[in-house]
Amino acid sequence: MSDLPVRDEYGFYEIRLESIGGLGANLAGKILAEAGILNLGFNGSSFSSYGSEKRGSPVKAFIRFCDSDCEVRINSPVTEPHLIAVFQENLKQILPVLMGMNDKTRVVVNTARTAPAARDFLEMPGGTLYCVDALKISREEKVKLNTTILGAVCRASGFLAKEALEQAISDTLGKKYAWLVPANLKAFNRGFEEVEILEVPDDGKYPFQPFRESPPRWGYGNAPIGGTITEIASTLRNDLSASREGLLPFFIRDNCTDCTLCESTCPDYCYVWREVEKDGRKTMVNTGINYQYCKGCLRCVDICPSQAIEARNESEVDTKKLSRVSIW
Ligand code: SF4
Ligand code: SF4
Repeated sequence: MSDLPVRDEYGFYEIRLESIGGLGANLAGKILAEAGILNLGFNGSSFSSYGSEKRGSPVKAFIRFCDSDCEVRINSPVTEPHLIAVFQENLKQILPVLMGMNDKTRVVVNTARTAPAARDFLEMPGGTLYCVDALKISREEKVKLNTTILGAVCRASGFLAKEALEQAISDTLGKKYAWLVPANLKAFNRGFEEVEILEVPDDGKYPFQPFRESPPRWGYGNAPIGGTITEIASTLRNDLSASREGLLPFFIRDNCTDCTLCESTCPDYCYVWREVEKDGRKTMVNTGINYQYCKGCLRCVDICPSQAIEARNESEVDTKKLSRVSIW
């Protein structure tokens, strides 16, 4: 049986998964817990916290391990994790995903950046960073990215045996989706192997942030009657980048016939049109996508009849190209 490398004052090794709905963090948490409890003999627990249960909204999963003779009597969120896994790096722009970490915490992040660049993007104050391009691997293996991230989590943990996680993945997926097991095991192993590790110096570049609850601004006591939105043009300030699962539409102007199908399909009015003179009369032309409002649903890719939009990894797309400034 493995031994826990470190414990908090209550005897727990604690993991927090930071994700968005649709990436499989809830299932990853369950697989982690099953690997530790059923296959490695720890005691422990796993549960998730999410709001509106919709794709793209923030999700957290919490996993605790302790020795087999220790009782689990804590069911609160993990506030000072030994290991954090960030499934979508852009979450950092809307949530303090690293809060509660200390200089011993290990952080796994799904990113196409180099480890030093990812450290700066996350503003990571210390600890050890494990970067894995889980989106690329999962696309190549045609699986969800949660098993790839599990591979990196396994590596970062230093005590969860690979075989225990492989067994848990096979048992969990094998019940209903047996044909997906080999590809997921391959993605898991690539996630384990293809990590770039960086010991982050505690150089004071970024401060450690203690865990804090962020209560909703509005509740039953102060919400406007009928849930009225009182802030004028608040949707203009929306930034949906943290809702994306990693793929974005890429617009190819040369193929576009300005048929407007993407415009009527996009739920967030991301396409930017401009009036031009053509053959002596005014007409509207599609100038591209404003990525600030794009949540990566890829409906426009499916609807376009002219191959003028294709799905690409977010890291391959210049999301600043059409900013809101260009509209107004
Ligand atoms: S659906 Fe395709 S061809 Fe039609 S306007 Fe959009 S990008 Fe252009
Ligand atoms: S992927 Fe396409 S349809 Fe979906 S939000 Fe982005 S631009 Fe709109």
